[in-house]
Amino acid sequence: MSELIEKALVDATDTKVAVVEEGAIARAGEVFTELFGDAAAVVVGDERTMEVAGRAVNERLRASGVRTLDPYVFPGEPELYAQYENCETLRDALAGVDATAVAVGGGTLNDIVKRASGELTRPYMQVGTAASMDGFTAFGASIAVEGFKQTLSCPAPAASISDLTVMAAAPTVMTASGYGDLLGKVTAGADWLLADALQIEVIDPSVWDLVQGPLRTSLARPEALAAHDVEATRDLAQGLIMSGLAMQAHQSSRPASGAEHQFSHLWEMEGHGVDIKPRRLSHGFKVAVGTVAVSAFYERLLERDVAGLDTDAAVSAWPSEEAMEARVRELHPVPNLVDELVTQQLAKWVTPDELAQRIETLKAAWPQLSARLREQIIAPEELQRMLRAVGAPAHPSDIQLDWARFRQTYLRAQMVRKRYTVLDTALELNLLEEIVDELFADDGFWGRQQP
Ligand SMILES: [Zn+2]
Repeated sequence: MSELIEKALVDATDTKVAVVEEGAIARAGEVFTELFGDAAAVVVGDERTMEVAGRAVNERLRASGVRTLDPYVFPGEPELYAQYENCETLRDALAGVDATAVAVGGGTLNDIVKRASGELTRPYMQVGTAASMDGFTAFGASIAVEGFKQTLSCPAPAASISDLTVMAAAPTVMTASGYGDLLGKVTAGADWLLADALQIEVIDPSVWDLVQGPLRTSLARPEALAAHDVEATRDLAQGLIMSGLAMQAHQSSRPASGAEHQFSHLWEMEGHGVDIKPRRLSHGFKVAVGTVAVSAFYERLLERDVAGLDTDAAVSAWPSEEAMEARVRELHPVPNLVDELVTQQLAKWVTPDELAQRIETLKAAWPQLSARLREQIIAPEELQRMLRAVGAPAHPSDIQLDWARFRQTYLRAQMVRKRYTVLDTALELNLLEEIVDELFADDGFWGRQQP
């Protein structure tokens, strides 16, 4: 798989080096010097990550002749949160020194350093201490601004080091989070297949392969991951790194993010799980539940005779632009959120004529497309088994989501991004609410699992 990473690096815009191996920290100095010459380094971590890896990274840098400044250490308690204030504080501290940041930690710490370095237009290096998400090698950082999580633009790290010894020993909850994030590529891939068939976003086969090629292998051993197995951790970490590099190569998160991420984004924007103790609800845990939800949705859609659907009936049920806006405002009553959601939603609104054409395209493609989607999707029961084996949530109750709110997410998540997903297809076919009703009926996938 390391050849795959080398191949992915060719098209990556920011990341020049990605090392995924046992004891990779030993190469920190060598990689730093190769990329940044005689620049000084400043390690950034929190109290915990300094303990497990930060000090060792600092020593390796020094041993290789790199001039190192005093590390910048965030407190271990309370748990570090990706809020914009932390980016500003770090940026201001870094602005006063002439040094390249070396982020040592998980996803949150990396996002803070990524954004702070980006604002200073400085490249940075990243050392991962847990296989907890795919954002290490992606552009952009997921940061809460005035309480709302959003993706702020900033370049990916110039170098990414994943030390499998450290990652395998990380708390299982972190590995399980990375697993949940990676599992989302199953439904994300299905959504891309749909968007491709409808000529909304064409698949780039080489980028597709970066994510989907190693995916099943990376997900194959959830029990071993829970048992801190190094080889299973290698498969997971490589899958996550590849996803990040694919997003860089594609200049978009499309290869790695579909409706399951829209579920997660909605909950993130609304701050769900921020107050869960002792550990805040992770991105990967939200994606995990979103993936089960979307897979169950696909299952219902795939049971339908879409090729035989009545196009005129669907077109006559299609809301006007004004009605669509009213629908967003009704379902998202939060004033400082809703304007942006209206923009996202109207960006993908089509005229009735365009819709009729799109439905005809879908019907013609359906025999082949549906077979392809069936291959891509993993059954929701199987996803739940995999998630439970790794120690990740598999049911909305596991992430303390209220049942009614969970059900509403199917309708509301469709509006949070302009990205086209299966939720859009269902809305356009006038099947969205019907399928949700089926899922929550007594004999439906969720109805049978009602808490
Ligand atoms: Zn993700």
